Parts: sequence; C-alpha cells; structure tokens
Amino acid sequence: LNILSEQTVDMPQTPYQARHFINGTFTDSADGRKSDRVSPSHGIVVSQAAVGSEAEAEAAINAARTAFDDGRWSGLSAKDRAAVLNKVADLIEQNEERLAVIETLESGKPISQSRGECGGAADLWRYAASLARTSHGDSHNTLGEDILGMVLKEPIGVVSIITPWNFPFWILSQKLPFALAAGCTCVVKPSEMTPSTTAMLGEMLQEAGLPAGVCNIVLGYGTPVGSLLSTHRDVDMVTFTGSTAVGKTITKSAGETLKKVALELGGKNPQVIFADAELDSAADAVTFGVYFNVGQCCNSSSRIIVHEDIAGDFIARVVALSRKVVFGNPMHPDTQVGAIVTADHQAKIDGYVKDAVDAGAELCLGGGILNVPGLGDQFYQPTIVRGVTPDMAIAREEVFGPVLTVLTFRDFDEAVALTNDSTYGLSAGVWSENVHTCLAFARKAQAGTVWTNTWMDGFPEVAFGGMKESGQGREIGRYGFEEFLEVKSLVMRI
Ligand code: NAD
Repeated sequence: LNILSEQTVDMPQTPYQARHFINGTFTDSADGRKSDRVSPSHGIVVSQAAVGSEAEAEAAINAARTAFDDGRWSGLSAKDRAAVLNKVADLIEQNEERLAVIETLESGKPISQSRGECGGAADLWRYAASLARTSHGDSHNTLGEDILGMVLKEPIGVVSIITPWNFPFWILSQKLPFALAAGCTCVVKPSEMTPSTTAMLGEMLQEAGLPAGVCNIVLGYGTPVGSLLSTHRDVDMVTFTGSTAVGKTITKSAGETLKKVALELGGKNPQVIFADAELDSAADAVTFGVYFNVGQCCNSSSRIIVHEDIAGDFIARVVALSRKVVFGNPMHPDTQVGAIVTADHQAKIDGYVKDAVDAGAELCLGGGILNVPGLGDQFYQPTIVRGVTPDMAIAREEVFGPVLTVLTFRDFDEAVALTNDSTYGLSAGVWSENVHTCLAFARKAQAGTVWTNTWMDGFPEVAFGGMKESGQGREIGRYGFEEFLEVKSLVMRI
C-alpha cells in the first residue's frame, strides 16, 4: 500500500475557540459548557466549542424570527442581498487555508480535499447570489374582463439548517446562501464533531455586513439543540443533511407544527459497468468514488455492479489503482485518503467487512485497520470485497468507509433490478459506450442523480437530492432555491 506519513502543512498553535453567533454577537453558552474536538489523525485538541442548551437555541430562533418579521433582510432589494452574498464568497476565498486546515484536523479528510471543499464553496455563494434576482412568480390576465390573477413568490420565513460532519462547509453552503438569497432568516446547527468552519463563517457573515439576527449559529448536540430547531413553532422550515435515522426523527417531530422539511440523507450508490464500457475511465471513477472523503460520503460509489464477463478484469484494474492511492497523513497535500472520523465509526466499518467475510465474501484487497507511522491507527485499509450477495448488510447499508463491494449481473434487467434493490435512491452511475444503454438505464434507475460515463460531477446549476429513503426536496440549482420560497396567490377584481 501507498502510505505517506510526513506532513508539510503547518499545524495551528492553539485550539480554535468556536462560539455561538446569536443576533450578531459571538457568545459562549450561559452555563459555560464546552467540548474539545480531538483530531482523529493527530490526537490533539483542535477546537473547543461552546455546547448549546435550549436557552441558546431559543435565543437564536427568537433572533431569526424578529429579523424575518421586521423585514430587515427580506425587505432589502434582491440586488442588495446578492451584494452581501458575493462579499461572503470573497471572504471564503480569502480564508480558504484557515478553513481547510481546521476542517482537515477536525474530520481527518485530506487537506487537498478540504481546500477544494472550503474554497470551492465560494462558487455556491456566488451562484446563489445570482439567483436572488431571478425570483418571480406568474401573472394571469386571461381570467376575464375585470379580473387579474398573480402568483407571488415570498421567502418561506425562518429556516433551521442542520448539517453533518462529513462535508461541514460544503453542505452548509448548499443550503445557507440559497435560503438567504430567497430572503429567509436562518438558524444553523453544525455537527458537534466539526463545529469550527461553521463558526468561522459567522465571522465572515459579520464582516460582509449581513444584518444581525439574519443568520444565527448555535453549536451543540442533536438533543437538545437540533431537536428544538426542528420542533419550535417559530421555525417555518427545516433543512437537514445527515443520516436517514435522524431524518425520520426530524420528519416526525416537525410534523407536530407541519413545518416544511427538506432532507438529504444516506445512500448506497451503485455504479453499473456494462461489458462494452471504457474500462480505464470506469475503473478510475470507481476508485475515486470509493475513496473520496475517506469513503465517508453520501455519494460514495460503494456498490459496484459489474457484468460477469468483465468482472475479473475490472476488479483487477480497481485493485491495481487502489494500491497507488496515497493513504496517510491528511496534512500533506499529496495524501488522497486520511483518517476515519471516530474510533467507533472505524469499528463499525470493520464490523461490516468481517461479517461479510464470515458470510462467505472474499477480500480482494485490505480488510483491516491501517497504521500510519507517527499518527497511529485511526485509519482503514483500502478494501475491496467480492462474492457479495444482495442480502448481506455490506451490500445494503451505508458502510461509510474506504470499502468497495462488488456484485455481478448477467443482463440489463438484472443490472436495473440490483440497482433498485435498495431502500436508498441518492445517485447511480452507468458505464457503457452505447448511448441507448445509458439512457435506458437512466430512465429506469431509482436515483435522484444518474451519472453517465462519469461520477460525482456536480455543478451549482444542477439540482441534487435523493429518492426513496435518501431524502426529499432538492438542493442547489433553481429547484434548490425554490425550496425556500412560498407561493402566494393574489386575485384582484378591477
Ligand atoms: P447524523 O444524522 O448523525 O447527524 C447530522 C446532524 O443532525 C448533526 O448536526 C447532529 O447533531 C444532528 N442531530 C442528531 N440527532 C438529532 C435530532 N434528534 N434532531 C435534530 N438534529 C439531530 O449524521 P452524520 O453522522 O453527521 O452524517 C453522516 C450521514 O449524513 C450519512 O448517513 C450520510 O449519507 C449523510 N449525508 C447525506 C448527504 C446528502 O446530500 N444526501 C450529504 C452528506 C452526508
């Protein structure tokens, strides 16, 4: 295996102090509670974050409610709102390295990917800014001689934004600028494991001139902070990215007040490789898709469905490429796969692999904990498991690690059936040189995104989201923006 233990990126001298940002002011919790985030790769305390209680969540919701109701944000012209969002985008770019270093140390992901995630998020802010000025409804002047109808678009109101640890800054940027562009006010709760880049964004929002109370940030745990954000009467919408289990809890509790819920949840994403596929590109994409973000990615292509005639050849290619992938110290720009987020999660990954092997699956590569000299063993080997049957947990559940499972198929219908044999429906991939095969597959696949002869190609313009238990609603693009808008009809006798 290709393991890199040295590092060239400078470590921060002191832990970052992450604080709540409520009504334009940075504060610690009233009871002074804080939690240390210990780096999964380096074992040092990276940040000390305030741990919020219901009091902070309540104060943040009140601030967002007041800011929405008095129109200090929605009452601005879309042009003025866009100017603030564009300023935030500039500040994100200026702060890319500071954001990336802390993102890597809190999550374990490689620094090159943190730089892409944090700096690249500026594009989402600029795109959302451009959408602010496109919000419009309809007019109906064919209803009769003396009657006029109009459909107006209005911001939905106060939006709670709850985010996970795997792409803290990117996922926040898929939601927050779009909600702000629509004229909403927000309360954000990042994951307790990766609070810092969200807290740093608070500094940038303030510097960019976002009026106080328009975006509030409360740090802390799912309970009580996340649960209050999804049940409180003064919240009009919850947008959540995270596990399907928590997504279901939020849907139930938000139902009490019938607030709108948008969910981006888990996936068990297949890439289907037909016998006529261009195998070099497919093998490259599969290798990237399984190891990106240490495999801890909702879009991980963790389930390969390959035609039986080419399975041996294809797996050999992916094994060879996997041996070249650089595992190791996430604070080196050449590292491609870093540390696993927590020791508990590493044990879960290992359990899926061991159970599959016990049930008769075969390891083509890896299958165990990886030690990186000088950093310890919160890493996992690149792992490829074949001989997997569709009923095994490793083929059905999100493993969320650098683990690829391989299933085989004989014909088109079986490939589609295996693809759709999942409670999830986030994304799917198809590889074939025959455009008819690709299109026919894309139409049958139960997935919010179908990638054809590519994988994880994302653009702010193209909506993203899941079917089935992968979620509801869409993010980014025009469809994502529209989620934050309410429709009001106006009928006028004249
Ligand atoms: P998680 O569900 O454990 O936590 C997500 C967030 O919800 C955290 O901020 C957490 O504190 C909060 N939370 C926990 N319990 C809550 C409750 N009862 N009420 C309100 N909030 C609560 O998820 P995670 O482990 O942080 O992230 C990994 C999961 O996220 C994976 O399943 C992954 O597939 C999914 N994910 C999906 C997408 C997507 O776009 N579809 C993107 C990234 C991650």
